Amino acid sequence: MSDIRVRMAPSPTGALHIGTVRTALFNYLYAKHVGGTYVLRIEDTDKTRSTVEFEEQIVQGLTDLGLVPDEGVGVGGPYGPYKQSERVEIYHEYLQKLLDDGKAYYCYCTKDELEAERERCEKEKLPPRYSGKCRELTREPAEGAVIRFKTPQTGEISYEDTVRGKVTVQVKELDDFVIAKNLDEALYNFSVVIDDITMKITHVIRGEDHISNTPKQILIYQALGFTPPQFAHLPLILNEDRSKLSKRKNKVEFRDYLAQGYLPEALVNFLALLGWNPGDDREIFSLPEIIKEFSLERVQKSGAVFDIKKLNWMNGQWIRKLSIEELASKLKPFLQDNKLDEKTLKKAVQVTQSRLEKLAEASEHMHFFFELPVYEKSLLIGKNMDEALAKLALEKSLELVRELPDWEALELPAAEEMMKTEFLKLIEKLNLKTGQVLWPVRAALSGTSFSPGAFEMLWVLGREESVGRLESALGKF
Ligand code: GLU
Repeated sequence: MSDIRVRMAPSPTGALHIGTVRTALFNYLYAKHVGGTYVLRIEDTDKTRSTVEFEEQIVQGLTDLGLVPDEGVGVGGPYGPYKQSERVEIYHEYLQKLLDDGKAYYCYCTKDELEAERERCEKEKLPPRYSGKCRELTREPAEGAVIRFKTPQTGEISYEDTVRGKVTVQVKELDDFVIAKNLDEALYNFSVVIDDITMKITHVIRGEDHISNTPKQILIYQALGFTPPQFAHLPLILNEDRSKLSKRKNKVEFRDYLAQGYLPEALVNFLALLGWNPGDDREIFSLPEIIKEFSLERVQKSGAVFDIKKLNWMNGQWIRKLSIEELASKLKPFLQDNKLDEKTLKKAVQVTQSRLEKLAEASEHMHFFFELPVYEKSLLIGKNMDEALAKLALEKSLELVRELPDWEALELPAAEEMMKTEFLKLIEKLNLKTGQVLWPVRAALSGTSFSPGAFEMLWVLGREESVGRLESALGKF
């Protein structure tokens, strides 16, 4: 096993976001590719916004996709606990150390004072920053005093981001930022560093939105005498118009994708290609295949456009890879109106499989197997035909269907070929065009204008149901 250790550190302050899933996936892929360790840590320092429900949804959602942590929440490990709310004492100890070393200090400024200062900066067209007023005070901590980091006043911070290359920030652009509300309430920039140090994290792979936090975090590593990890900031996910992915233009909650019947395999495949590519135009990859090929060097810097049409197409591809049994069982929750026996349902699934892009569309594609829809006679009359011709085609087809050899025990394509041979003989005898017979038959069997072809419909419905539906069509004339 390699010493490489990565972590996914979601905050349970909202529903599992599709971008969070992508970040978790890239961490997982990298860890698995190099034989390292993937840690799942919950960053619940924000007590007012974190909930257990969100935490459960996040842990469950990631696990359902196959991103099972090697260490962390749910599985434990040697550097736990893996929830920030349970690590307060650890942060306390390191905060105290920074205070003792004179690298952090208590700030007693009131809200009003800070507000006045912010306004002054605004007036002078300067970036809002803390003046450092309490820097040299040595008073005892008082109620409401926060802990600030004593940011050096000169120098620069430079790091090599695996995705973005060299990033340099002038320290004077940063101010003395708040690292804790008090010794027992550390804030994000501090707790994340302490966790990454104590959990021996070697690579921090996270969203681009954290780039602005990185120099502050590097300063904390340096102040405590530790080497920062390797950083890799993933590109933003964009709407099709290249604005930042938003719920006004796309669904962003992971559970919405599951509810629509996207398969985990398709979601993993699609999300892996949101910012990474294999170097050629292959698009369909299983999780083990992506693990084999993944590298951070192939992660792009520019934003990755979320193309829902591509996801739909991919999902269709993954649906086609399922066995009929697997697909039928995955479809059941989406087919509340199903009245078919197991065997017939499987046949219906078989003829629908290649038409589906999302499991939630199944009912739309299959409802006519369960119950013949109410329809108008005009549906039976296709192009290039009149009422008399449609009626004749249906009468003759009904006779044929009554006499066809027993097809219900046959599989596709044998059943279809047998029917086709017999129907072509009839069509030739009547001296009609194929469509002039097969349109009214298909329409009579499905009661809709879009459905699988006449032979597939016959195969699924069986003789008795097919005869009944053809008779009912003829009843309309
Ligand atoms: N908890 C942070 C978030 O959810 C992630 C922190 C990090 O990856 O450094 O955005």
